[in-house]
Amino acid sequence: MSFYCTPEQFEQLIESVKNAGYKLLGPKLRDQVIIYDELQSAKDLPIGWTDEQDPGRYRLKPRGDKAYFGYNLGPDSWKKFLFPSREKLYSLSKQNGKLSILQEAPAVEKMAFIGVRACEIQAIVVLDKVFNTKLAVYEQYQRRRESTFIMAVNCTTVVNTCFCASMQAGPHVRAGFDLSLTEVIDENRHYFLLQIGSKRGEEICEGMKMRPATEVERRLGAEHVERTVEQMIRKVDNAHVHDLLENSHDYKRWDEVATRCVNCANCTNACPTCFCSDTEDIVSLDGAHVDRWQSWESCFNLSHSYIHGGSVRNSAQSRYRQWLTHKFGTWWDQFGVSGCVGCGRCITWCPVGIDVTEELRELKREHDQKNR
Ligand code: SF4
Ligand code: SF4
Repeated sequence: MSFYCTPEQFEQLIESVKNAGYKLLGPKLRDQVIIYDELQSAKDLPIGWTDEQDPGRYRLKPRGDKAYFGYNLGPDSWKKFLFPSREKLYSLSKQNGKLSILQEAPAVEKMAFIGVRACEIQAIVVLDKVFNTKLAVYEQYQRRRESTFIMAVNCTTVVNTCFCASMQAGPHVRAGFDLSLTEVIDENRHYFLLQIGSKRGEEICEGMKMRPATEVERRLGAEHVERTVEQMIRKVDNAHVHDLLENSHDYKRWDEVATRCVNCANCTNACPTCFCSDTEDIVSLDGAHVDRWQSWESCFNLSHSYIHGGSVRNSAQSRYRQWLTHKFGTWWDQFGVSGCVGCGRCITWCPVGIDVTEELRELKREHDQKNR
């Protein structure tokens, strides 16, 4: 059931989440982009702003209305709160010849993610699979994940780099949320449709006098979301991409993309599902204490594939191929899902505008030519 929620009630809802002890995290304007950061209230959201995105290009501009969620994704993803770019895993200390391991479990705050899009929920589902396998469980991640409240938002705007519809990851929010909102705004109306997805969500709404939405109000909301699907100009042939990548190891397209890729690793940092990390030991001068730190690593770095004798992937061509093949292909073999949710961040934030959808299309063209 959907409830009708006014902008004032939406602001109260955010207040209720905060009063329930959650740290509010959500979209915020900073340095000409929309990032994810701590919010004090709904007033901190980028109200009245929207964005334009193309390969290698991002611009903010005013919308001319008071929409709370009238923009798309920025360079940040929720990954940075669940899997921080750097954190201490444990320390080792030696005293009187005895070695002790100090694993300080980081204090886990109750976090509320405000404005999580459908593709981002899917990205969290992907990370859940990555960090909880038969081989290993990333406990800090699990603890953070359990204490996270998700207030989702259906996308009602689209930019040129999104392709979530073809990855079956959006723009409709279908599951995995505590509360879900659709913001409806036109010349005469501004309201939200609210859906409750969990007991926690229900508790937040307690005491708020919201009536069920009428059929007309619901239909208008559904039309807003449907419009984003129609306006999405990029897509990936997700059903065939795994096999294409499995058989394209020697294709010329890899050499071509390598002439443009500068191996900056922006795409892996911006990607909400890239999970590679490295560890570093910082040892005290007397050798009696060591801290082990974990930090994000990227398959675009030469050192990432270093083993005794040198790096396995020592060309730009092999590193790009590794990234694309894992993300869209072998991720399926490893985790049973695609590693891509179609958020488009890697396209917008690539400094030379490399577009994964174009690369996959060109690989397919080469494949078809070879198999004619
Ligand atoms: S590969 Fe690109 S489009 Fe896909 S999830 Fe990562 S950043 Fe988003
Ligand atoms: S594809 Fe683009 S963002 Fe990724 S490493 Fe290459 S140049 Fe950087």
